[in-house]
Amino acid sequence: MSAMEPTTRAEVEVEVNDWVDQTWTDDITVREWWAALAEAKLSSPGLPVEAGGRGWAHDLASAVLATFMRREVLGPPGGLGLLLAAPTIAHHGTAEQVARYLPSILDGTEGWCQLFSEPQAGSDLAGLQTKAERDGDEFVVTGQKVWTSTAQTADLAILIARTSPDAPKHKGISYFVIEMDQPGIEVRPLREMTGRAVFNKVFLDEARVPAANLLGDLNDGWRIANTTLGFERAGAGHGGATFSAALPGDNAGDLDKPAASFVGAKGPINGAAVGRRHLSALSELANVHGTTDDPVAREAITRVHIDHRIQRMMGWKNKMLPATRTGVEGNLAKVYNSDAVANGRDAANLQMGPVGQLWETPGSAGMFQEMTIFSPAPPIYAGSDQIQRNIIGERGLGLPREPGPDRDTPFSELPKN
Ligand SMILES: Cc1cc2nc3c(=O)[nH]c(=O)nc-3n(C[C@H](O)[C@H](O)[C@H](O)COP(=O)(O)OP(=O)(O)OC[C@H]3O[C@@H](n4cnc5c(N)ncnc54)[C@H](O)[C@@H]3O)c2cc1C
Repeated sequence: MSAMEPTTRAEVEVEVNDWVDQTWTDDITVREWWAALAEAKLSSPGLPVEAGGRGWAHDLASAVLATFMRREVLGPPGGLGLLLAAPTIAHHGTAEQVARYLPSILDGTEGWCQLFSEPQAGSDLAGLQTKAERDGDEFVVTGQKVWTSTAQTADLAILIARTSPDAPKHKGISYFVIEMDQPGIEVRPLREMTGRAVFNKVFLDEARVPAANLLGDLNDGWRIANTTLGFERAGAGHGGATFSAALPGDNAGDLDKPAASFVGAKGPINGAAVGRRHLSALSELANVHGTTDDPVAREAITRVHIDHRIQRMMGWKNKMLPATRTGVEGNLAKVYNSDAVANGRDAANLQMGPVGQLWETPGSAGMFQEMTIFSPAPPIYAGSDQIQRNIIGERGLGLPREPGPDRDTPFSELPKN
């Protein structure tokens, strides 16, 4: 970290290039690389200084990732620790909680998952039924979560649970950090059509959480969850493709492998966004499959390039101009990204034709095949696109909320699914 903080992207690039020259070697391990990254405060420079960041605005912070990609070195620790837990704890945690959790997120030595969705509470997340009851210095947690990405390797989780069933549903939820490795937690992987099991069912049967792990005030968890969801939606809209293919935490087994072996590798969320390498691969596909003179195929590729440009501009607007924020930039970006992925998928399949059903189709090598089978996911995760549109209508455009009893009636009196 230089004595004078950079103030422009060009200055950030100079600092990061120098740092990469001094630090990257062909045989550096993921563990060593991420430790050095955290030491240089380059894992997540947008975080506040006291949380291990540099307090940079998005334009400076994103220059770090762009430089890593250009230099073809491994990015910061992937996963939900850096994306969700770190900014939420930095915003709402005590100094002790920040000191306990942030360092191992930033150097990738602990992995995280997000215990939010339940079988009957996805879109209606505030209808969750997992309960946390106080027992001395602890809370006892019982219930079921589902679609929990990376739970099978996570050391820690952000958890929302009902602590006051007699309060209206948004007002009786609390937010915790819970240790995953304990007798009261069972994780069962769910295999997706990608062939992977990124997400899981998680059963909590009298799992224990120290009361000191409550984030924010008791029963104020819905407000804090909305902080997490804001970061998640903005991340799903802009950042998914920049995340590293190596997973944090010892359980995932990546930390002692060479960092170089993950560069350019296909991560579990390949297909979650259209990145630069998809753009160049699309042109290559058109050459290989002889569609360069086909006006429909050309238009489809042009559409994908336009989407990519618009997404970059949405990213700048989202993070660079806080004074003009409406509060729904992340929701807009998330919905736009779902369409951009579908357009990327369709453009690629238009070039390939029926032969695109084969994984090793010339020019694609699985990249667009994977995007095709993963493409139903972006419109669903981080809250479905329909829910994003409801939020944009209500919070962004000021339209009236849907009428219903659920705002004021005690949760215990509401009908349950
Ligand atoms: C790849 C992937 C990873 C995920 N990872 C995680 C994770 O790590 N942790 C976690 O907690 N969750 C995770 N999820 C879960 C995700 O957040 C939920 O799937 C999502 O919120 C939708 O909830 P649901 O599946 O229960 O669908 P439902 O809520 O049952 O919705 C079904 C359909 O009804 C529509 N709908 C429902 N209510 C309304 C309404 N009021 N207005 C209009 N339409 C409506 C929805 O848009 C949707 O099309 C993940 C999901 C996916 C696909």
